[in-house]
Amino acid sequence: MRPELVVCPNSECGASERIGVHSLKERRYKCHRCGKTFAETSGTPLFGLKHPLWLVLLVLALLATGCPVPAVVFAFGLDERTVADWQRKAGQHAKTVQEQLVCQGHVEVGQVQADELYTKTQAGPVWVATAMTVFSRLWLWGAIGWQRDEALITPLIEHTRAAARPGQAILFAVDGFSAYVTCILKVFREALHTGKPGRPRLVVWADLHIVQVVKQRAGRRLLSITRRLAHGSLARAEALMQATQVEVGRINTASIERLNATLRTWMPALVRRTRTPSGARVQLEAALFWTRCVYNFCHVHATLAGTPAMAADLTDHVWSIDELIRYRCRRE
Ligand SMILES: [Zn+2]
Repeated sequence: MRPELVVCPNSECGASERIGVHSLKERRYKCHRCGKTFAETSGTPLFGLKHPLWLVLLVLALLATGCPVPAVVFAFGLDERTVADWQRKAGQHAKTVQEQLVCQGHVEVGQVQADELYTKTQAGPVWVATAMTVFSRLWLWGAIGWQRDEALITPLIEHTRAAARPGQAILFAVDGFSAYVTCILKVFREALHTGKPGRPRLVVWADLHIVQVVKQRAGRRLLSITRRLAHGSLARAEALMQATQVEVGRINTASIERLNATLRTWMPALVRRTRTPSGARVQLEAALFWTRCVYNFCHVHATLAGTPAMAADLTDHVWSIDELIRYRCRRE
């Protein structure tokens, strides 16, 4: 029990200091400002669970690094449904954390890479689309769909726009899927105020560039890579690439492909066997947001000497799993 991470759940108090341990046995804290005592999971998405918080956090840490659900079930003698329930709660919390900390218009996104992967569930194969910024390695958003269509891509692009500092220079490196271009040009628009009466015209951000990186394969063998400028200027796109990439080469989608390769290995084992499509989708989304949010806030990246969230100036320290779970999201 770590009182220094705890915020008083009494809505009229909310003290973050002067919190002490009230009872180790009952696992309760006491707020010395308002005098109330409360359970250790109070005010967290894990409130009301029958298991001790340390066990839940340990299991969530294992799931966040790709430990398969059956391994967790076996090692701790837990019910599969219990583990799935914890992951679902943590995943929903992580999605809100992404929404409230990442998607607030403060991120220098610079270069954005987006990519999709295909994975199998018991309810059928699904598409997982994700987007990240290259320089800070910050994962921006993910979406899950039964089809690879514009509906799969749209939430990705909308949340990228929500994260980006308005009006900044952006390079998008995407694959050959044409929905990206359509969707980016639809979402990244702002009002052009001309001083004339009436509704202002919407125009695409001035310094926005889209490069499609198209790979031709024969089986697993890569035959060729073609780069196509879909919007903006190629010279400007090259300059942005140089400025936002640690490993300088040619415009590519290598960073997001590396991140998604890990996901591709992890996802099937993170999803509890479920036969309903909606159940599979909920589990998959929870696993996606939980693993990626932990990656953003808790995982120290070797080349960054910190977490992606630190590199993106969203926080000044490495978060523990405990701190991530305890983060107080605003009620919407
Ligand atoms: Zn209090």
